[in-house]
Amino acid sequence: MGLDYVDPLTKRTRQRSATVADYEEGEKLLARWLLLTGEQHADEVGSMTVAGLAMRWLDEVDPRIARTAVSDHRFTEDAVLLDTWRGYESEIATHILPGFGRTALSAADDIAVGAYLATLAASKSRRTPIGATTAPPLSASMILKVYRRLHQIFTYGVKRKLIVGHPMIGMKPPKAMRRSEQHVAERDPAERAIEWEDLELMLAWLHATYPEHPAYRTRVRTGGETGLRQAEACGLTWDRVDLRRRTIRVLQQLVYVEHEHGCAGKWAGRKVSPCTLAARAASGNPKLAPIAAYRCPYRRDGGWYIDTDTKSHQRRTVPISKGLAADLAELRHARTPLPDADAKRRRLARRASRYAVVNADLVFTAQRGGHISKSLDNTLIHRAFDGAEIEADGRNVHSLRHTAATTMIRAGIPLPEIQVILGHSSLQMLERYYSGVTARTATADSVSAFVDVERRERMLDASPHGMVLPDGN
Ligand SMILES: [Zn+2]
Repeated sequence: MGLDYVDPLTKRTRQRSATVADYEEGEKLLARWLLLTGEQHADEVGSMTVAGLAMRWLDEVDPRIARTAVSDHRFTEDAVLLDTWRGYESEIATHILPGFGRTALSAADDIAVGAYLATLAASKSRRTPIGATTAPPLSASMILKVYRRLHQIFTYGVKRKLIVGHPMIGMKPPKAMRRSEQHVAERDPAERAIEWEDLELMLAWLHATYPEHPAYRTRVRTGGETGLRQAEACGLTWDRVDLRRRTIRVLQQLVYVEHEHGCAGKWAGRKVSPCTLAARAASGNPKLAPIAAYRCPYRRDGGWYIDTDTKSHQRRTVPISKGLAADLAELRHARTPLPDADAKRRRLARRASRYAVVNADLVFTAQRGGHISKSLDNTLIHRAFDGAEIEADGRNVHSLRHTAATTMIRAGIPLPEIQVILGHSSLQMLERYYSGVTARTATADSVSAFVDVERRERMLDASPHGMVLPDGN
């Protein structure tokens, strides 16, 4: 769909077009365009509000809008990826518009912005965890995001000559966002661990909620039992799982790789790629903005990859319990095999030390196919916290690793063994983290059901020194 309009700022005729998925999305986008380009907006530069500026900026970085400017009026902002854009939109709608949106641009000076950010830093999250009576403070990362977004919006305002000066020059992010002050970081790791009884409730909830997709439950169980890191669990492939010996070899992880320029030739500085130089020569405009890597016509695709390069992390072999092995066996049985030709192509791709996740034979997959992304993984665990009515405050996916650590300590497994299973670089770190956790003798404790006694004995058998050794190095 497309729209011709007169830019209220430059009075030039412009054209915009976008590809939308459905009618509803098209209607929404059209309504926004009309709002932005409509007559009620044309005379409003003087009385524009922060909300108006934020909406204009959002529109400018919207990747769905192709900018075919009729005039030589150039855009200096780069469109962002759609998912990023949706994040911006949500931050603006949730935090900037309600608290600061109605402020007129003429009144949005450094004092007003400072006051708004101070209020923001002192505000509460919109989410109250189950079991808690009050909402936790707004997270430090969200405060920083809002600060950055506001900064970008004002920078855009200056560029478009909608405001005279940038009100945030020299302004530091609000104080609450310092990492050391986050209440999450202050919590004791053992306290952040999920008790095994609670984990069982979460697994039961996942089982009831996703009966057709056992991968989600098994992924969470694997985390709680083996302490695999998120990137290790999400990047686990079947060739690393030995169900007969009941071990998982941990030697790879899911990583995100940035897009790269694939254009050949010489660069003029760090940002000015050969394709930018070619575009400048072709257009006769030597000031054309540098082309971002993801827009390079010869781009090397970034995205999610399986990284088997062991330099960045250590290899280890982790024993798994009978129960988990049974869950994994069920998962493997239920997976749909690939067509032969496809399987061969993927097998070849997997020979590289880093290969695209689409070629991976993943253990844990998303319900709609493909890998479990970090955000889906985070969402799942939080849904399970809510569903099982476990306090989520201060807990996240990493809590599963703490669960594995504390459970093994309580079951009486020696620290050096636990260190190897978890892949901790030093024993000191483990000792410091879990100094308060003491071994309980495996009586009728639920722990024994989790780390079965047999598992420990087998681990002791596995090496002459009574330890599981990392393979290779
Ligand atoms: Zn390029």
